[in-house]
Amino acid sequence: MVVIMKREFTPEQLEAAVHTMEEGGVKVMVSKGAETTILGAEGNAEHIDQEKLSLLPGVERVMRVTEPYKKANRKYHPEDTVIELSNGRSVGGNRLAVIAGPCSVESEAQIVGVAQAVKASGAAALRGGAFKPRTSPYAFQGMGNDGIRLLQEAKEATGLPIVTEIMSTDNVEMFEMCVDVIQVGARNMQNFDLLKAVGHQDKPVMIKRGMSATYEEWLMSAEYVMAGGNENVILCERGIRTFESYTRNTLDLACIPVLRKLTHLPIIIDPSHATGKSWLVDPLAMGAVATGADGLLIEVHNDPAHALCDGPQSLKPEVFDGLAKKLLKLHDFMKTVEE
Ligand code: PEP
Ligand code: MN
Repeated sequence: MVVIMKREFTPEQLEAAVHTMEEGGVKVMVSKGAETTILGAEGNAEHIDQEKLSLLPGVERVMRVTEPYKKANRKYHPEDTVIELSNGRSVGGNRLAVIAGPCSVESEAQIVGVAQAVKASGAAALRGGAFKPRTSPYAFQGMGNDGIRLLQEAKEATGLPIVTEIMSTDNVEMFEMCVDVIQVGARNMQNFDLLKAVGHQDKPVMIKRGMSATYEEWLMSAEYVMAGGNENVILCERGIRTFESYTRNTLDLACIPVLRKLTHLPIIIDPSHATGKSWLVDPLAMGAVATGADGLLIEVHNDPAHALCDGPQSLKPEVFDGLAKKLLKLHDFMKTVEE
C-alpha cells in the first residue's frame, strides 16, 4: 500500500497517517520527494484500515500496490534513483554512464593500460572481472584476489571507480572494502544468499538480468538487496536466452521503457554479452541510448584476439573511443528531441 500526502500537510498529519498504517501491523517507509511525500507499507498491508486512512486530513490518496516488489517500485519512490560514484560521476541522472573494461583482469599492464584508455574516452568507471563465472571448469577462472589488487592499482592510476563481479558470500567484506560497485552476474541473479549478503553492506550493487529472468523476477532480486537496507541498486540488461543462436543472447531493449515505468532504479545495457560479437556492440549501444538507458557496460580489451575471456565481443580501445564519442553525441541529441 502507498499513501500519497497532499502538497501541504502538517507534521501531526503525517504522524497520524504513519500511526494508522503501523496499527495495521506494517513498517512504514517515508519517501520525501521534491513534489510529493509518499508513505509505503513494508509487509502485509491487509490489516490496514484503508477507509480511515484515506479520510485523514493531509492524505491525498491511498493505493493498493499489487506488485511484490516494494522498495524497488516506482509507486513507492517516484523520483529516479541516482547512484553517486567516487569520482564525481553517477549512474542515473542526466549524464550517460559508460562503464568499460576487459572481461577479465589479466595483468597490471593490461588493466592499467585499458583503464587509462577508457578514461580518456570519457568512461565513468572501469569494469574488470577477477572472479569469473565460467561455463567450463577448465576455462580461465580469473585472477581472484590478485585481480582485485590490480583493479585497485588501475583505480590509483586513473581515479576511475572499479566495478567487479562477486561470486561468493565469503568475499562480501573484502569487496565492500576494495571495490566501488559490486556486480552480481546473470548466473547469480537468484542466488538469494548472495543478494542478502550484498544488501547488508554499503557499496552499490549492479544486478545483471538472469538469462531467462522476467522483469518481475529481476526486480525481486533488487528487492532482496534493498530489503537488507542497501537501496543503491543498478539494473543491467545483458541479453536473454531465446531460440536465436546467431547472437550469444537476445538484447531486450524493451526493458528500458518497461523498467522506467515499474522502478526508479537506474538501468544500464550490456551490448557485449548480449550479442557476443564486437561488430554488433556499436549499433545496439546506440539503440540503448536512443531508448533511454542510463548507461552502458562495454567490454574493451587491448588485444581482443588474445583475450583470456570474451575476446570476440571485446572492442579495441581505439574502436571504443569512436563509439564513446558517438554515444555522448546521441545522448545530447536525445535530450533535445525529448524537450
Ligand atoms: C561479465 O559481465 O563478464 C559476465 C560474466 O556477464 P553475465 O553475468 O552477464 O554473463
Ligand atoms: Mn565477459
